[in-house]
Amino acid sequence: MGGGPAGLMAAVGAARAGARVRLLEKGDRLGRKLLISGGGRCNVTNARGVDHILENVPGNARFLQSVLRTWSNEDIMAFFTDLGVKLKEEDRGRMFPVTDRSDTVLNALIDHLHELSVEIRFGAAVEGLIRGEQGQIVGVELVGGGRMTGGSVVVAVGGCSVPKTGSTGDGYRLAKSVGHRIVDLYPTSVPLTAADDWVVRDRALQGVSLYGVKLALYGQRTKALCQEEGDIVFTHFGLSGPAALRVSQYAVKALRDSDAKELRLTINTLPGLTREDLRARLRQMAADHPRRSLKNTLRELVPERLADLLSSFLQDVGETEACHVKVAHWERISELLQALPMRINGTLGLERATVTGGGVDVREINPQTMGSKMAEGLYFAGEVLDVHAHTGGYNITVAFSTGYVAGRSAGLHSVREEAM
Ligand SMILES: Cc1cc2nc3c(=O)[nH]c(=O)nc-3n(C[C@H](O)[C@H](O)[C@H](O)COP(=O)(O)OP(=O)(O)OC[C@H]3O[C@@H](n4cnc5c(N)ncnc54)[C@H](O)[C@@H]3O)c2cc1C
Repeated sequence: MGGGPAGLMAAVGAARAGARVRLLEKGDRLGRKLLISGGGRCNVTNARGVDHILENVPGNARFLQSVLRTWSNEDIMAFFTDLGVKLKEEDRGRMFPVTDRSDTVLNALIDHLHELSVEIRFGAAVEGLIRGEQGQIVGVELVGGGRMTGGSVVVAVGGCSVPKTGSTGDGYRLAKSVGHRIVDLYPTSVPLTAADDWVVRDRALQGVSLYGVKLALYGQRTKALCQEEGDIVFTHFGLSGPAALRVSQYAVKALRDSDAKELRLTINTLPGLTREDLRARLRQMAADHPRRSLKNTLRELVPERLADLLSSFLQDVGETEACHVKVAHWERISELLQALPMRINGTLGLERATVTGGGVDVREINPQTMGSKMAEGLYFAGEVLDVHAHTGGYNITVAFSTGYVAGRSAGLHSVREEAM
């Protein structure tokens, strides 16, 4: 059940294993989240090796080791190439269809399901699992009263982020009904919220993007909780963009697991320069244009609004001519350029998160088959599991790989049951 990447690929795996497959989708369309992923271009997987993919799965990577080796990113790429979907590699190994359209990927999958004679039912919201005499799963109950039986069931109904795409957390209830533990849910890959006046009151940098910066998040200790490099964009509530999204899960966990109400984030806007290089650069700029104000000098290095904000931190020094700026002020400016502090007090909620953290406890799932250890004939795949990755094609890889393996195992189980 579930017509997202995990459910679609589970249907492929099951049908290829020789089973008769029915795909139940509660909405009236398939792959709604897949369509909006990767900015509407569908970041279908990542071309780098399995080890690299696992490094980008902060939530339960070890559990995925065998599944990713059974059906890897290479298999996903070969699968789509065989279906006629040409893929291209972009920065950091991210793979997209050459059309830059996610419907190319979705339509190829749907056409393949038709080739495999998979029956697709829309408006089929699964409400409960039906257990047989030995406790095994033998079917599902639908909202509105219908029942469907079969040799096995794959739960691939997603998490509970961006619920308007159909993923409203139904899988957790289904899993709980057979005794699975649900690891507490939390938002991941989600924008950060800040407490600084210059962010929320003055909106000083709202809409400003910075590219290739380095973020470091600190709790009570001097050692950073995490460091991430990439692009960011300032918002009216805090910080978004790929690097901020990568930091978010550490912020959520640190705030959840301690008494701290705030964390400190520093932004190195010029990570390519050592502090000494930066000092030398500032000295040179001041020597080249001694009559230029500090504010205008900084505008040569960073966007205008950031230069103005940094100058405002030094009160009335912003308009001072570069040749008259004191050494201590140059030092403070270097510090701010390479460690602009923000007070992070949380993140946006699950409804705005790219991915749901937490979910069905993977200790109760067989990592080779994706089968439930609580009920025979039941399999799980995709975001409903307590697995989450960074953005960059890694979550979709997880959905496709766990989907294929769950589907194949479920299909083989059904074929065996039918033969008995
Ligand atoms: C804006 C956005 C951008 C993203 N970009 C990327 C990216 O670039 N790279 C990346 O790797 N990941 C990205 N992701 C994450 C990725 O899209 C998800 O992790 C992935 O779609 C999860 O797949 P899934 O099949 O497990 O669940 P979903 O895609 O959520 O699919 C679940 C399906 O199950 C159906 N369903 C729910 N309940 C029931 C029920 N009771 N009965 C029947 N059907 C049901 C839903 O209607 C839905 O169709 C993005 C997510 C968002 C929101």
